[in-house]
Amino acid sequence: MADASWGNCKSCRFFAGNSDEPSDNDVQSCNQSELKKFALLVSADSGCNAYEAQVGESVPIGGEPAPAMH
Ligand code: SF4
Repeated sequence: MADASWGNCKSCRFFAGNSDEPSDNDVQSCNQSELKKFALLVSADSGCNAYEAQVGESVPIGGEPAPAMH
C-alpha cells in the first residue's frame, strides 16, 4: 500500500458505488483489501493513499471499421 498514490474515492476502483459518476456527497463502503476489515464508509470526495484508478473507461465496440489502405 505504501507505493500507491493519493486520489479521491469517487474515481477509485475500490469505491463501492454503482454510478459511473458519483456525486461528491455519495457515501459508499471501501472495498480495498486492507481497509475492508474496518467496514469504512467513505464519501466520494474523500480519499487515501491506497487509491487505485478505475480501469477500463468504456470503449465502444463494433464502431466504424478503419478505412482500408491500398
Ligand atoms: S478510502 Fe482509499 S481505497 Fe477506499 S475507496 Fe477511498 S481512495 Fe479508494
